[in-house]
Amino acid sequence: MHGLCLLRPVPSVPRMDLFVRTARAADSLSSWLRRMTFKDLLPHQVVAEIRRHVVAWAGAHGWPVTADLVCSRTDAPPIAIAIGDDEPSAAGAVVLRVRWRDSRELVPAPIGLVTVVTTSRVVDGLRRYSAKRSCRARTRQGRLCPVGPRSSGLCHLHDPKVQCGATKRDGSRCTAPTGGVRCTNHRGRSATQPGDAMFELD
Ligand SMILES: [Zn+2]
Ligand SMILES: [Zn+2]
Repeated sequence: MHGLCLLRPVPSVPRMDLFVRTARAADSLSSWLRRMTFKDLLPHQVVAEIRRHVVAWAGAHGWPVTADLVCSRTDAPPIAIAIGDDEPSAAGAVVLRVRWRDSRELVPAPIGLVTVVTTSRVVDGLRRYSAKRSCRARTRQGRLCPVGPRSSGLCHLHDPKVQCGATKRDGSRCTAPTGGVRCTNHRGRSATQPGDAMFELD
């Protein structure tokens, strides 16, 4: 039961508002942490690395951040970030938990869960963790794209440079991943072949 008192929202923040703020903060930190790349780190090194990125994230927003990872904001309630199974600071109204390895522990609302996807292997008897950067685009369902990126930071599906790029009948852009050439439906589009426009990808 210890620690549950920390989950109580600060009275000045309406509960609904807190859910929205938490979701928004979790989303922003998730996107930021997706640029993390590391290889074969020990758990304490992973935590240090995540910590460094959390501080940079706060810095990018202009929020001062304390040693126990509470970001103070002038126009919004403070955000406390807990890494792994650490206890979040009680000073945060919005609480985020960054999970970077499997855990059975539940993350009760309104705590926002931020996941850093890692793989692990045992080297010389010690479990070491690695993370790869992934594409910064979102899928149509609004989830973060899990595919590895090209140098542009976008994957082979999301990088416009390697999509068909033709204008579709509805005026939208064809995003078929083709490596940068026109897709089969848009190849030779100017030719007046009957039925040519019958096939549209979407
Ligand atoms: Zn992608
Ligand atoms: Zn196309």
